[in-house]
Amino acid sequence: MQSPLTVIIVGGGIGGLSAAIALRGAGHSIKIIERSSFLDEVGAAVTLFPNAVRILDSWGLDHAKAHFTKFRGIGAFSAQTLQDLRVKVFTDYEAKFGTPRVNAHRVDLHSALKELATTEDGPGSPATIQLSCPVVSYDAKNGTVKLADGSEERADLIIAADGVHSQAATHILGYNAPATVSRSTVIRFLIPTETILKDPLTEPLLESGPGFWSTYAAADRKRYIVRYPCRDDTLQNFGMYVLRDLNNTTEKAGFRLKADRNALRQAMDGFHPTLLALCDKAAEILPLWICAEREPLPRCYRGRMVLIGDASHPMLPHRGQGAAASIEDAAALGELFKDVQSSELEVIESKLKMFQDVRLNRASATQILSHENFFGDPINGPKQRLLKFLPESELCQNAGQMDAWFSQYDVVRDIQRTMGERQHATAAA
Ligand SMILES: Cc1cc2nc3c(=O)[nH]c(=O)nc-3n(C[C@H](O)[C@H](O)[C@H](O)COP(=O)(O)OP(=O)(O)OC[C@H]3O[C@@H](n4cnc5c(N)ncnc54)[C@H](O)[C@@H]3O)c2cc1C
Repeated sequence: MQSPLTVIIVGGGIGGLSAAIALRGAGHSIKIIERSSFLDEVGAAVTLFPNAVRILDSWGLDHAKAHFTKFRGIGAFSAQTLQDLRVKVFTDYEAKFGTPRVNAHRVDLHSALKELATTEDGPGSPATIQLSCPVVSYDAKNGTVKLADGSEERADLIIAADGVHSQAATHILGYNAPATVSRSTVIRFLIPTETILKDPLTEPLLESGPGFWSTYAAADRKRYIVRYPCRDDTLQNFGMYVLRDLNNTTEKAGFRLKADRNALRQAMDGFHPTLLALCDKAAEILPLWICAEREPLPRCYRGRMVLIGDASHPMLPHRGQGAAASIEDAAALGELFKDVQSSELEVIESKLKMFQDVRLNRASATQILSHENFFGDPINGPKQRLLKFLPESELCQNAGQMDAWFSQYDVVRDIQRTMGERQHATAAA
């Protein structure tokens, strides 16, 4: 019988819940401590590439129950004239990579992960969740966290999944490394597919059919809308992106500002009347999000504590890899701690060191590749920066190769390979 480790996970977002699923699967005893009352999850959608979906499938996440919508392709159009810009990409991810790419409503994904983490039916013991309880300080060496109510909790392993404004990162680094404001802002809104199809003016916007994405860009490419379906194709998710000049900005990264229909119309100034008609169909305009990013960190663990997800590697949404990278972190920890029965500090540290060795370079390269948007050049511009984290042979030459670099990656296999190599090296020494 394995004696389980006690694990505290700080933060119950996509990363924290995923870590709970992976570590309960590895036989450990999990408690999630979450600052909010869980009513916080913003109602928009995410896309998940095969590198993430492969992991969700291994955990038994039911696509139908989570209302996943399969990605089928994307087309680009002029926002002023709706003219087809002829950069259509039709990718059958399932045929190419063995696993589909899907879109999920964030609330549906969050609920599905929460169920897998806490259900009585799953492997090991269900995770428990303590809500409305901010963690205010950490002691990585002793494995303790202090909560806002003054109480203290101890565990063999602390997983900090506290998001882009992570306080845990400050503790692990020993200095403050705040996320910074990027040029990208986004206003998101959702419209039922039926509402768009019922209006003869807007109906042609969905003519490519179920599962298809479209993007509508202004001539200078600094303003564009991304549209894609979610919740079984019954809802269309829109993101109105604006690239701003950062001179003299006093805004803070990752902050949500109030947005309304006027703000959206202003962002869409000069867009085709058909696109403007969409604004009036959105029941709710979600807040304007000032997208945050941060330079890659030099480390992501200390003592008994490890950073995952946005706490470790916040990135811009342009490659759709932020949530995926947090799911990969979780799966990596699940695999590393599968056979761990000792709670000795050296044992935990050696596993976290291996986690860092496998995850940090890849996540850092993903952050850099995410900096440029759909119309930019994510590959050649940052080549020198990428070479700090990837060997030249792994650098992508074009968008197709980058897609494959994300989609083919199997983090569990990478961890198994690294563990095998290290065992081999120890045996040989
Ligand atoms: C506009 C936009 C679009 C995106 N689209 C995609 C996409 O298509 N595909 C994709 O893969 N990714 C996408 N992302 C990125 C993705 O949303 C994030 O990378 C992902 O949600 C990170 O999850 P996380 O669990 O690390 O952090 P979060 O989701 O931020 O969760 C952190 C949790 O920690 C809690 N917390 C914080 N501090 C404390 C504390 N002190 N004590 C206790 N709890 C605390 C918070 O309340 C929160 O619940 C997008 C992001 C944005 C902004």
